[in-house]
Amino acid sequence: MFGMGSKDEAANVSLLDRGRSSSEKTADIVWAQRDQMNFAIMLVETAEATDEQVQAALWESSVTGASLGDTLVKHGVMRQSKLMSLMEEYDSNQIATIVQYNVPVDDVNLLHKEKVVLFGMSAKVLYIGCLGNERRVREHFEKEFPDKTLRFMPVKPTQVTEFLERTDRLPRKTAERSGDGRLEIVRYIPRTTSDSDVLDLLVNVAGVRGGSDIHIEPKANSYSVMIRINRIRKIVHEGGLTQYNALRAQVKDRARMDQMEMRKPQDGAYSQEIMGRMFDLRVATFPMNGGQEKIVIRLLDPDKAAKRLPDLGITKTDIWRAACGYPHGLIFVAGKTNSGKSTTLISTLREQDRIGKAIYTIEDPVEHRVDFLTQMAVNKSESVQLDFKAATRAMMRGDPEIILIGETRDDETARAAAQAAESGHLVFSTIHAGTVRDTVHRLRGFGITDSELRPMLRGVLAQRLIRTLCRICRGAKCPHCLMTGYDNMTVISEMGFFPSERHFDRLAAGEVFWDPMVKDALYKLEQGITDEHEIYRVFRSEIDYLSEDYEGVSELAERVKKVVSGKLDSMVDRTNTLSPTKEDTEKLAIASDMERELAKHNINSSSASVDDDELASLDLKRYDFDED
Ligand SMILES: [Zn+2]
Repeated sequence: MFGMGSKDEAANVSLLDRGRSSSEKTADIVWAQRDQMNFAIMLVETAEATDEQVQAALWESSVTGASLGDTLVKHGVMRQSKLMSLMEEYDSNQIATIVQYNVPVDDVNLLHKEKVVLFGMSAKVLYIGCLGNERRVREHFEKEFPDKTLRFMPVKPTQVTEFLERTDRLPRKTAERSGDGRLEIVRYIPRTTSDSDVLDLLVNVAGVRGGSDIHIEPKANSYSVMIRINRIRKIVHEGGLTQYNALRAQVKDRARMDQMEMRKPQDGAYSQEIMGRMFDLRVATFPMNGGQEKIVIRLLDPDKAAKRLPDLGITKTDIWRAACGYPHGLIFVAGKTNSGKSTTLISTLREQDRIGKAIYTIEDPVEHRVDFLTQMAVNKSESVQLDFKAATRAMMRGDPEIILIGETRDDETARAAAQAAESGHLVFSTIHAGTVRDTVHRLRGFGITDSELRPMLRGVLAQRLIRTLCRICRGAKCPHCLMTGYDNMTVISEMGFFPSERHFDRLAAGEVFWDPMVKDALYKLEQGITDEHEIYRVFRSEIDYLSEDYEGVSELAERVKKVVSGKLDSMVDRTNTLSPTKEDTEKLAIASDMERELAKHNINSSSASVDDDELASLDLKRYDFDED
């Protein structure tokens, strides 16, 4: 039916898109909601999500306009990959919101002529929408994709316009077709980029490469951009100052910052789609001499935010859960900046009964939104003045069971946490301390006495992040791990559990009755999760001065010392490599494309292009080791 009588609609495509009346917009929303409702029913019926989760997400998406699927992923109900496979099974319109830009096709003329939308492609099915001649489109794509079934879906003129606008920005060269003449690779960069695309290229490179932060640093005659991947910064771009000024204006505009203000630090945020996933971008600027500003963009990956507690690498997850199962008391996650503390806490709260219990948080800032948590953000502005202490006092009036205080950083927050725990609440917080023992020292330093801690302290999880060996090359360095040998990170931790006051007394008497962190690290070395060099990078002082208490691991520690001093070859098994998956290969192709495109905007680039040899020859000094 949708092919019929669509001529007028098609003619008005651009009009509809530009100046839609308010009644048309309303119609749009009704359509989307009915569509989402069907998807919602399917999710509940197949037990992929609970009724409560789906209802909460529906409410939210009716306000935010985000799709139901995206909202569920954002809240960690399901992973993006799971959502994709569900939608593949079910609902093309949902697929459209995610992947419609990821199926580029050469034949732009046909797409325009017959008003075609490519919604998405799975292993077996190609989902198409068409307002023109369906038969002609079918013939074409059957030839183009002989191994796929074509499924035609209803489509609206506005979807066609949006799709074609995006398609026009895709590369069109036949060289980009794969061997058998078909296009399958996902690409999302304009055919020709200008300086105004540099920001998008940087953000996309960082997103595809799994980067956490982008650092934009102006200098006297140029500016550098570094991306932090698995805690290590890597230079990815060097541009001119004119480009820097345009980039800065663009970032500040998107993050809704004050363009004229260059003397004060500012922060802001915006969201952006990267390879079909909606990222939250947090932007901060820092004034420098001469009116320049350093800009840091933090990328919050929805898939990372939805990490489950058992997947973090915490060895004693069961003991941690036991500590978090008490109805009241104090629980700390200790670690330095960027040691993954807030991810651990949010994954922990996600496991709590979020509907049965009232859970409040005060964070600085709120990094990951979780449904059924009342999350407040610290606000230092004159008119609001919401700090950890004020927020904790406010929460107590909100009938809470569980309270999270983002960070115990001074006497006042420590006092507020202790009082909340004393009055019968379960209080979670992070603290800047290296070990379980350090945490207690810090708390004493904040004026909390042992007699207060004794009945209240339930657990301290101290953690650090360590890089894990690349699953494709096992440390041999390959393009997938950016020639670093490592492709991910895991938590190294020690867990102090104090189920009774007697346990606290033992701690106060100087006893260490839990496995220290370095032991966990050395066990992970033994399991081949990481290698000697990485252990030494993160645990250098512990290894150099290993206490005799650490029975059972002193041989491993000796091995680390010998390997880093060159007296012994690494004993990590480097043979059990995995071949790259199709997804790995695609990601690498996209990242390389975008990096090549980015290189065209380098300050000294005539024909700049980065190839693997060049990547391999990168001076290690260009990696800035982050000691956090
Ligand atoms: Zn590798």
